[in-house]
Amino acid sequence: MVVGCEQVWREISNYLDGEVDPALRAAIEEHFRGCKNCSAVLEGTRNVVQLYGDERMLEVPLGFSQRLHRRLEENAAPARRTFLGWMVAAAASLLVAGSFELARSSTSTRPELRSEHAYPGSGVPPGLMVVVADSGKTFHVPGCRFIHDKARLRTIAAAEAIREGFVPCVRCMKKYLNS
Ligand SMILES: [Zn+2]
Ligand SMILES: [Zn+2]
Repeated sequence: MVVGCEQVWREISNYLDGEVDPALRAAIEEHFRGCKNCSAVLEGTRNVVQLYGDERMLEVPLGFSQRLHRRLEENAAPARRTFLGWMVAAAASLLVAGSFELARSSTSTRPELRSEHAYPGSGVPPGLMVVVADSGKTFHVPGCRFIHDKARLRTIAAAEAIREGFVPCVRCMKKYLNS
């Protein structure tokens, strides 16, 4: 069996899911050996599959990712994910990477931690919306009783708060800290 590029593209997500029959699988692998374009597509798709399989990717601080996730689930629900579905995921992951890049560069002027006893809140979902006061050192869930300066609060994503040097409030962030 000989397959062309277009057939490889059509089957690539099934191929990665192990859902093609052995003869087609062999033909696709044979094609990858001879076709640089398709092996690049394979690599890219594999990365997207890994990203998409990583729950953390879904916690990015942007509404669109949730809408997208829903759309992908609708796509994936009936039987098999479509190649188009993966490409939408790929586009989304690029956008997400871009937004993290932006957030990082806008805060890179003050990378130092605000507290000497600071430790990064590694268990806090990066997309969780938290509140910080510029006069404080900690970030909180909105409405935490232990916020001192209630006058000048900002609501930002946890990932951004951590990048700005805030540490999680030991009271309201407790459930994330020892996990
Ligand atoms: Zn090809
Ligand atoms: Zn708190």
